[in-house]
Amino acid sequence: MGRAFRYVIIGGGVAAGYAALEFTKKGVSHGELCIISDESVAPYERPALSKGFLNPEAPARLPGFHTCVGANEERLTPNWYKEHGIELIMETRVESADVRRKTLLTTTGETITYKFLIIATGSRAVKLEEIGITGSDAENVCYLHDLDDATKLVNMMRKCTGGNAIVVGGGYIGMECAASLVINKINVSMVFPGSYCMGRLFTPKISRYYEDFYKSKGVNFIKGTALSSFVFNSEGKVTGVNLKDGRHLPADMVVVGIGARPNTTLFTGQLTFEKGGIKVNNRLQSSNPSVYAVGDVASFPVKFSGDIRRVEHVDAARRTARHAVSAIMDPKNTSEFDYLPFFYSRVFSLSWRFYGDNVGEVVHFGDFGGTKFGVYWVNNGCLVGCFLEGGGDDDYVAVAKAVRLKPVVVDMDELRRTGVGFAVEV
Ligand code: FAD
Ligand code: NDP
Repeated sequence: MGRAFRYVIIGGGVAAGYAALEFTKKGVSHGELCIISDESVAPYERPALSKGFLNPEAPARLPGFHTCVGANEERLTPNWYKEHGIELIMETRVESADVRRKTLLTTTGETITYKFLIIATGSRAVKLEEIGITGSDAENVCYLHDLDDATKLVNMMRKCTGGNAIVVGGGYIGMECAASLVINKINVSMVFPGSYCMGRLFTPKISRYYEDFYKSKGVNFIKGTALSSFVFNSEGKVTGVNLKDGRHLPADMVVVGIGARPNTTLFTGQLTFEKGGIKVNNRLQSSNPSVYAVGDVASFPVKFSGDIRRVEHVDAARRTARHAVSAIMDPKNTSEFDYLPFFYSRVFSLSWRFYGDNVGEVVHFGDFGGTKFGVYWVNNGCLVGCFLEGGGDDDYVAVAKAVRLKPVVVDMDELRRTGVGFAVEV
């Protein structure tokens, strides 16, 4: 059994959805494009799973957050793919790929050939077993990567109202899930090995602000230690956690967010890798000219910083996907990919955005006791990054523009004093 398509996307997540829209904008013909996804639903905005999807009231549900609503574009329902003659092969994994022969083999035994391949297989959650702890399969241990995980988490939260949740990890998943657990009236303890939450992006001062805010909502922070094992009841349910520092905490449910790994193993030994991802050029093209990589799996050149990076954030997935399609379908009119790193989060009533790089000297600004404050990073005398909590749309536009221009900073005190005003004036 076999089929041939001009264009094939492996993976049906954020990047696949944005790539599909771009293909139609560039005039793809019916029957030319196919998306192979092991998920059971058409591409959706994954960030919704740790935000609106977990709301106790009026939660976000599909089809409401199919791509590409996250970028205020059309919502691509399954019917949209049909109408545009795009083949969605769902609940099907690609289990092997041969880039020399341009052939994919799926779990249903089908062989699919392509002229151009876009790898958009995203990443997977790191499992506790990978750090030596057993118990991931327990009914009350939750991860959060796909719709099935999110549905399990919602069901567990409903069962645990008034009970105790342990959140393992102080990164994006930990912070966003802890907030949702609190909103769902569950007592939360967060456990992570570092000294501060979001330690790879936040400064200690920013972390302290968020930790204090979370504490005011009842969250208990247990830092500088890690999970060592679970305590199970006779039915295999987790009833408590043991920590490396000897402490024991009761648990009705556990949420784990200890990082992600890119899904690249199909291409090991076939494509060039860098920084854990598939190395691509500034057209998102891999070491094999017929193969492009986008989203979480792509290690692409970032002109802004002059290095190669793999970025596990939605804005990069959307932009790399669109750019790759443009490079394939309209090479003459496609310039070099020029990306400004952009991350964001929303928790409780808080909302922040970050642009650029968090390297160099740190200048905090604004009112840390109030609602609008942030940090500039100044490297080699130039502004290279900005984190802003509580900004308005105009502030974020100004900050993004300023960071991209990397203006020289003459007076750090002035930067501190003027805050967002500095970016507005650039
Ligand atoms: P994904 O969206 O993960 O899609 C990959 C797809 O490939 C999936 O459908 C997967 O099932 C499929 N697949 C994998 N292997 C195969 C195979 N062999 N065969 C067939 N299909 C396969 N980023 C932000 O910037 N802001 C946020 O607020 C934010 N929130 C997030 C919340 C959650 C819960 C998660 C998990 C991530 C969040 N992110 C956020 C990160 C962002 O969602 C990802 O960076 C983005 O989804 C990456 O897009 P992608 O298409 O590369 O991968
Ligand atoms: P992160 O990498 O953001 O955070 C992992 C956290 O786990 C860190 O606090 C890390 O600490 C901690 N950790 C590492 N090892 C252990 C351990 N043994 N025990 C306890 N904690 C440990 O990953 P997440 O799982 O939070 O997120 C997964 C993916 O989802 C990422 O790709 C992320 O970008 C994406 N995501 C993005 C969001 C956004 O952009 N708003 C929202 C939700 C998810 P340390 O830092 O000290 O190593």
